[in-house]
Amino acid sequence: MFETLSDRLDKVFTGLRGKGRLSEADIDATAREIRIALLEADVALPVVREFIGAVKERARGAEVSQALNPAQQIIKIVNEELIGVLGGETRRIRYAKSSPTVIMLAGLQGAGKTTLAGKLGRWLKGQGHTPLLVACDLQRPNAVNQLSIVAGQAGVDVYAPQPGNGVGDPVQVARESIEHARRTMHDVVVVDTAGRLGIDAELMAQAAGIRDAVQPDETLFVVDAMIGQDAVTTAIAFSEGVGFSGVVLTKLDGDARGGAALSVRGVTGQPIMFASTGEKLADFDVFHPERMASRILG
Ligand code: GDP
Repeated sequence: MFETLSDRLDKVFTGLRGKGRLSEADIDATAREIRIALLEADVALPVVREFIGAVKERARGAEVSQALNPAQQIIKIVNEELIGVLGGETRRIRYAKSSPTVIMLAGLQGAGKTTLAGKLGRWLKGQGHTPLLVACDLQRPNAVNQLSIVAGQAGVDVYAPQPGNGVGDPVQVARESIEHARRTMHDVVVVDTAGRLGIDAELMAQAAGIRDAVQPDETLFVVDAMIGQDAVTTAIAFSEGVGFSGVVLTKLDGDARGGAALSVRGVTGQPIMFASTGEKLADFDVFHPERMASRILG
């Protein structure tokens, strides 16, 4: 991830080394190279435009500094702008004043929601919470079973419709799960929802129905970083259809070019809160914009 972008940016900065002062032409040429690097990394065009605009303006206004040469000065500006695009500060979960806190997961099928439910369950438990994972993905035949397996691995409880009970309404299951969590003293409920291979109206309506039934404190849009520009279209569709308060990027261990990571915040206005970096439950962490920016800059 980010190798191409990192290499490209490195070349841009190398070209600036040895320059005593940056001329307007140097700034323009540098901005052009950074623009190409970002577009090649699949960053969404409006995000690229804003980024380049900000970098240029700051580079022009930068004071001649004793401490930093022009290359270092540009790197500093790009680093700070990258942190900004990635959300600035880490956004933590906003827990409800009265238990349970409800976290709903939404996203396309295969995005990694069920795996994430397990990861989040394990992480929440590590933070001293008593989470309950709720199976509301009743579309995919194996999803309930898969959620039970990850819950078992995470050592947390699961709420699922009983097989053979004829329970087929995810909104009903979601509603009941909150009552169940109250009775059984679980302080965080993580609701796994169904995803389709593509965006469709029925999926959105179902997710919106679950949202209305459980009134989540956080709705996390789960998106596979490997899908490139599609991440942006999907994010916009979920933002309009369901709404969400945070983003989880999955499969950051893959060799995607990183555009999704850099675009999704700028396009939806919602912060990336967590990152998934593998199939194991431990491959998961809170998202740190400044760490991601330093990874990009190498
Ligand atoms: P869902 O349909 O959204 O519930 O997606 P799943 O949780 O079933 O995940 C789909 C596939 O992606 C599974 O094979 C997971 O093991 C895999 N997966 C999930 N998260 C990650 C990740 O961060 N990295 C990698 N490499 N694979 C992941």
